[in-house]
Amino acid sequence: MEAIGAHDVSKEYGSETALDRVELTVEQGETFGFLGPNGAGKSTFINVLLDFVKPSSGTAEIFGNDCQENGVAARERVGVLPEGYSVFDRLTGKQHIEYAIRSKEVEADPIEILDRVGIRDAAEQKATEYSKGMAQRLVLGMALVGEPDLLLLDEPSTGLDPNGAAEMRDILREENERGATIFFSSHILEQVEAVCDRVGILQDGELVAVDTIEGLRESLGGGTKLVITVDALKNGTMETIRSVGGVETALARDDATVEVTCTNDAKMDVVVELHQAGVDVVNFRTEEASLEDMFIEYTGSAHR
Ligand code: ADP
Repeated sequence: MEAIGAHDVSKEYGSETALDRVELTVEQGETFGFLGPNGAGKSTFINVLLDFVKPSSGTAEIFGNDCQENGVAARERVGVLPEGYSVFDRLTGKQHIEYAIRSKEVEADPIEILDRVGIRDAAEQKATEYSKGMAQRLVLGMALVGEPDLLLLDEPSTGLDPNGAAEMRDILREENERGATIFFSSHILEQVEAVCDRVGILQDGELVAVDTIEGLRESLGGGTKLVITVDALKNGTMETIRSVGGVETALARDDATVEVTCTNDAKMDVVVELHQAGVDVVNFRTEEASLEDMFIEYTGSAHR
């Protein structure tokens, strides 16, 4: 069954195109990462699903319910972490969870949920006194109330430190194992890489790629970046590197460091070739292609 179906969804704000004929299906049980730089249209898409925004054309469905025509039914089994959510003025963390429990008309233990998102100790504290990361945890906790079938999370790791981001990923994994479908947006590839079955890359409102991360990397020729430090670059060193089979790009970062994107097989060839050309390789390491690298590959230009 389709958890999310978007058919030809466009949204214009005056002359600004926020979404450009987005066609996307997310199957029940998937963890889907929605990637794109700031301003790409990620929030607009999520807001169409939540019926906070009406699309200019096209239709969107959640579990077969039209998000605009049948919004209440569409949102019924959905846990949401919206963009830029602000907490209620006078309520404690626990009262926030209790509010979510009441409005979803479910049974749940608020303390258990606060414990799960790591802010049990702050249960009786006013949420306005929370740090950004704690507030983000609280809103995630509210989204988890009632074991939703779909979690729609807009930049859930905002405000979290690396530990917090890792804990959030653990929760997403657990939720997925429970059977929930997860759709979350991020502008950071590393955040989605560890948990996602598939990702979509949005650029200027257009879905430019939908694939597994592995698939994206492969279609970028392995997608690994080799960072080589040499004693000193000589005339012709860059040409030497570029002439190796499997090398896609080679850029000098400074006068002793070169960045090479190449297939996996070509990595050692590059190092051997440099050695044969009389260039001393001091160090080399590989970096996975970053979202930035993928954007450049997919769109032919650096994003804003
Ligand atoms: P993202 O979530 O990927 O950062 P958004 O969906 O927030 O991107 O924005 C996509 C584009 O639509 C941006 O150019 C933004 O300026 C524009 N936009 C979003 N909301 C509005 C609005 N309410 N009015 C006018 N333009 C908007």
